[in-house]
Amino acid sequence: MNITDKFSRKLRDVRISVTDRCNFRCAYCMPKEIYNSEYQFFKKNEILSFEEIIRLSKIFSSLGTKKIRLTGGEPLLRKNIHVLIKYLKEIKNISDISMTTNGVLLSEKKAMLLKESGLNRLTVSLDTLNSENFSEISGSKYSPENVLEGINNAINAGFENIKINMVVKKNVNHKDIIPLLEKFSGTGCIVRFIEFMDVGNVNLWSKNDVFSLEDILGTISKKYHIMPLEKNYSSEVAKRWSYNGGEFGVISSISNPFCGDCSRLRLTAEGKIFTCLFTNKSHDIKNLLRRSESNEIVKNYLIDMWSNRADKYSEDRVSGNNYKVIKKAEMSYIGG
Ligand code: SAM
Ligand code: SF4
Ligand code: SF4
Repeated sequence: MNITDKFSRKLRDVRISVTDRCNFRCAYCMPKEIYNSEYQFFKKNEILSFEEIIRLSKIFSSLGTKKIRLTGGEPLLRKNIHVLIKYLKEIKNISDISMTTNGVLLSEKKAMLLKESGLNRLTVSLDTLNSENFSEISGSKYSPENVLEGINNAINAGFENIKINMVVKKNVNHKDIIPLLEKFSGTGCIVRFIEFMDVGNVNLWSKNDVFSLEDILGTISKKYHIMPLEKNYSSEVAKRWSYNGGEFGVISSISNPFCGDCSRLRLTAEGKIFTCLFTNKSHDIKNLLRRSESNEIVKNYLIDMWSNRADKYSEDRVSGNNYKVIKKAEMSYIGG
């Protein structure tokens, strides 16, 4: 069964945040002034168990979902995450399971466990190769070498075409675009530059900090001849280019929104569903699950929710139509 929303968009892609905790404090996501020792993260019994995630994923799959991405917070902080992947892998029609991670916990053993459990694809976030910038941006005790080691372990475990996500902020790390691109040239890893997004409220987003698609292409084309590539599939979020060293992508939700193809739903660690990264309206699915409602009731709730979906926040921001600045959910909570 395929369900569609108000703009005929199917539900194809579910992003599951498996924890709201993180071992980094990236300034654009979990600034350390707010996520400090006083901050109350969810307690164990407040977050969805593996059984609950699996039950819901089976229902999502019966509604047309093909892809699941595990994210967070930092997904590798969730104990035995490879066991969850093993079960998700067994669900009929789920053909692709991926994970977005900051990479520093990708030890040799963890990378092997993830590969053996059936994880199809990995995205590793890395904003700079410069140690000082890295400490500043990530607010962590780690270094770029720790991330590179994680990527290396993943390659050795058999992961191919690993995506490297770099959030580009003007005057913070835009000078790192070329070094990062060159670092991964010829490695099979694909760097994707992400425009700094107005997700959440705590990162004090300003348009002046955005290094746009145009700026990124301008920077790369000063050094390389670039050519646009076709999308791999219609709902792909990154625009793709080839350059002399391979391929790169840009995720330009600020300057070039892509709501028209958005088939994504987000499930938070505490069991709330968001039908858009930028909405403040959530649906409490944990409550339904824990009231021991039948799968049929949960399924009908999801059908009703998706068929009423009319989100197109980024397009509205660009056009100015229907656009209001609202209090939004934070990225580390909703899952990137
Ligand atoms: N902790 C993992 C990581 O960093 O890869 C997974 C969760 S993180 C929220 C998912 C992705 O969102 C990361 O690639 C991160 O760089 C990106 N992200 C977080 N805040 C962002 C923002 N304000 N604008 C653009 N991308 C952002
Ligand atoms: Fe943690 Fe990822 Fe957010 Fe950085 S972007 S603080 S690594 S969840
Ligand atoms: Fe999807 Fe919302 Fe982003 Fe548009 S703004 S692409 S609807 S998540």
